[in-house]
Amino acid sequence: MIYLDYAATTPADPRVVRAMQAHLGPDGLFANPSATSHAPGRQAAEAVERARARVAALIGAREVLFTSGATEANNLAVLGMARALRRRGRHVVTCASEHPSVLDACRALDREGFEVTVLAPDEGGRLAPERLREALRPDTVLVSVMLANNETGVVQDVAALAELARGRGAVFHTDAVQAVGRMPVRVGDLGVDLLSFTAHKLYGPKGVGALWIRDGLDPLPEPLMHGGGQERGLRPGTLPTHQIVGFAEACRIAAEEGPAEWARLAELTARLEARLAAAGMTARNGDPARAVPGILNMAFCGVDADVLLSLLEGVACASGAACHAGDVRGSHVLRAMGLAQWRVRGALRLSLGRYTTAEEVEEAAARITALVARLRAGRRLAC
Ligand code: PLP
Repeated sequence: MIYLDYAATTPADPRVVRAMQAHLGPDGLFANPSATSHAPGRQAAEAVERARARVAALIGAREVLFTSGATEANNLAVLGMARALRRRGRHVVTCASEHPSVLDACRALDREGFEVTVLAPDEGGRLAPERLREALRPDTVLVSVMLANNETGVVQDVAALAELARGRGAVFHTDAVQAVGRMPVRVGDLGVDLLSFTAHKLYGPKGVGALWIRDGLDPLPEPLMHGGGQERGLRPGTLPTHQIVGFAEACRIAAEEGPAEWARLAELTARLEARLAAAGMTARNGDPARAVPGILNMAFCGVDADVLLSLLEGVACASGAACHAGDVRGSHVLRAMGLAQWRVRGALRLSLGRYTTAEEVEEAAARITALVARLRAGRRLAC
């Protein structure tokens, strides 16, 4: 099977698996890192702190808070931050192409009495800073806009958006899940207050993520859970040492090998796009000049992507994000961009990664274009 769904998840790098194993079995460093009354507990705590520094270093930070993934990190940032700020104001701004873990958290805020403005991106997938400027109000307390989109790879001008929002007194959060590991991400350059990311998109394990919170942010987000006081009381629960250590190893590898990998991925992505475009009557969704390497959203005129996927053999890819596959209206991201119907219905998301080869790209493109031709046969295309 040719795996072209790295934006949904990545396999754990074998070096990550080895690092995790050292923290699992009876001979390993399995102790509870909060059990600092004994040496094994203290060793586990040290391993967690070393891992924290390594994970934070990948985004140019000193510290992060560990969570169960980016869904939780986004919920803690959006719900927790808005609730902590509710006495200052009740207006929140986000973008219609965000991941459901941000959009649905905003819907929950709406039910709690907040007012949420959901801004539309342009046709290329970008949110114009001007739109945000117009939406900001004196009672805006929080703005959440992602860095790279999970369906198109399009990178937002987060630095400009954050500057605007913070200049007007709002806290700024960004979901950087698809950016970390695919492009340089430095919290200092972005100028944000909170940033979420997750291990399983960068060859780490599923079930662990991180929320970075700017030093001195006041107030801090309100915790979503209550318990043993871990993670400064913001995210209680026994720390999963093996997941955290695996996350850190994934971040170490991404820091060391990332830049070389990005160039290779950019080349493979361009090759895949060219091969697919040879089918004729195609369009790339999302501004290619703004996209991270490795995420390609390609629409085929006269083809229903879900039908294509049901017939496609030997290639694992998607018609949208894995978390809302099956939505009959098609991708909310592409619809938010205001694209023509055929570019929504006929869109495939192909995402490449560390183990993708040029041969796989050629083979996948050949299978997809042959199937597209079969599905179009005998029909007059009007796009
Ligand atoms: N945000 C984006 C942009 C994503 O692509 C994903 C992954 O599905 C998430 C958030 C959720 O991350 P997790 O699977 O770690 O909860």
